[in-house]
Amino acid sequence: MQESIQSCVFKNGWLGKREKKLFGRERKPDNPEEMRFGIAQERFTAQLKNPLPDAQWSGIITTIAHRAFESGMVEGVVTLHRSEENRFFSQPVLAMTTEEIDASRGNKPVLSPVLRSLQTAVRKKLKKILVIGAACHIHVLRDFQERFPYLQNMEIYTIGIPCVDNVQRNQFNWILERMSKSPGTACHMEFMQDFRIHIKHTDGTVEKVPFFSLPEELSNPGIFPESCMGCFDYLNSLSDITVGYLAAKLLPDQNRQWVMVRTEKGRKLLDLVNDELTRYPEEGKWECKKFILQNTERIISSMKEQKASYSPDRKIPVWVGHLLSWMLSMSGPKGIGFAHYSVDFHLIRHYYYVKYRCPEQLTVLVPRHVRSILQEYDLPL
Ligand SMILES: Cc1cc2nc3c(=O)[nH]c(=O)nc-3n(C[C@H](O)[C@H](O)[C@H](O)COP(=O)(O)OP(=O)(O)OC[C@H]3O[C@@H](n4cnc5c(N)ncnc54)[C@H](O)[C@@H]3O)c2cc1C
Repeated sequence: MQESIQSCVFKNGWLGKREKKLFGRERKPDNPEEMRFGIAQERFTAQLKNPLPDAQWSGIITTIAHRAFESGMVEGVVTLHRSEENRFFSQPVLAMTTEEIDASRGNKPVLSPVLRSLQTAVRKKLKKILVIGAACHIHVLRDFQERFPYLQNMEIYTIGIPCVDNVQRNQFNWILERMSKSPGTACHMEFMQDFRIHIKHTDGTVEKVPFFSLPEELSNPGIFPESCMGCFDYLNSLSDITVGYLAAKLLPDQNRQWVMVRTEKGRKLLDLVNDELTRYPEEGKWECKKFILQNTERIISSMKEQKASYSPDRKIPVWVGHLLSWMLSMSGPKGIGFAHYSVDFHLIRHYYYVKYRCPEQLTVLVPRHVRSILQEYDLPL
């Protein structure tokens, strides 16, 4: 516990010297894509030719983990299983069989102590492991690798998930009850590029809830953990390979994903599944400034107003919300432009969260590229 606190981003800050250590340089301030998405050797969208049932998307992460284990590249995978009490909750695991690896697929959208199983791997004297985690896990892991000699003797590969709006376990059911008409049967949930939350139910139906029609109380920044509202590495830039979906095209009959190969180790992980992927180039127009500027005033005031009250009612009826989501998915940013929009939206939201709610953390937490991005929008620092 003490070790994790010492290596935590709230002590060391996001990116900065860690990025320099891993890549030999920090992201380039004159490269708009690198500023948002982090340093990568290659980016593309793809889906598995044979998607893995019950994975979050097509299952690229679990398939890489499976192949890394089968090929002997790693002896164990530090990841999460679903807890028995609630399928959205997690249980840290050191997966050491293909069955255990396959059982780790799917999102557990709650804060999770992934690195707990690192201890088990050390105790078992493993020499080659794969760690799958969010950016906060990978940052702490990179710090551990520097501080602890026993980890320096281990070959560690990492796969990063993009991560945002994660929640505390004790808040999860309260939030789900306000999102879904049938929280008890929900089994899969994702915030999608069509500006709706897609909630899958156990009978196979998909409930689509427009972001704009959520009850107002879900827009209260206070319901999210401070750690997530102070996150400045949505796309997991210190992982060897990041696998998400943000810039992928949303199609009704496919589950395309977005892959960012960051390091040589990331390339080796990708090589394990390359033949199993159908690849597509990134698509979409980069520009999204006008959509960001439509939101900035509202974001800044909601971060400032800490005593505001939030009604349990919807401000916008669901049918109007669907219409707005439809209009935005037709005319709004897509592909790479959607990823640009989403990264900037969250960086801006988090900057003002920290500025107004934990100002003493501002200097430590915020990496320098965030200020350059705010300046692009003429926003006050
Ligand atoms: C809270 C949350 C928010 C996310 N937001 C975005 C987003 O905005 N944009 C985007 O592109 N992607 C986001 N993702 C990642 C995305 O949903 C998929 O996990 C990713 O695209 C991989 O899909 P897959 O089918 O390859 O995953 P799978 O093969 O199903 O594997 C998923 C892996 O992620 C691990 N995992 C699940 N939950 C957690 C967790 N809480 N902490 C650490 N590891 C976990 C699993 O144990 C498993 O190893 C988010 C994930 C989470 C948990």
